[in-house]
Amino acid sequence: MAECERFKACPFFNDQLAYMPQTAHAMKQKYCYGDKTQCARYLVVIEGIAVPGNLFPNQVERAREIICDARNPARKVFSDEKKQHAESRRSHKARGAGAL
Ligand code: SF4
Repeated sequence: MAECERFKACPFFNDQLAYMPQTAHAMKQKYCYGDKTQCARYLVVIEGIAVPGNLFPNQVERAREIICDARNPARKVFSDEKKQHAESRRSHKARGAGAL
């Protein structure tokens, strides 16, 4: 298979992300030189959506969430509220556990 056509502009491929995982080389082999259609970053960028700097090629589920959120902004608000609620519950539990 040919390498991904995005490689020149891709921060992951060019080791420009703030955090590069130890598995970056293997990911490049699998996605950049292998099957770009399975790459989370590729899936997001071909939708015309800005790719988060911390999105790695193997995070396809997260890429799908990003794409869904971009297509349906109301869903993103709901999703953000759910995350805040979950964080609040975790924080509340942690405070409770600390009191024991
Ligand atoms: S396959 Fe993904 S990580 Fe690799 S160059 Fe293309 S967009 Fe970037």
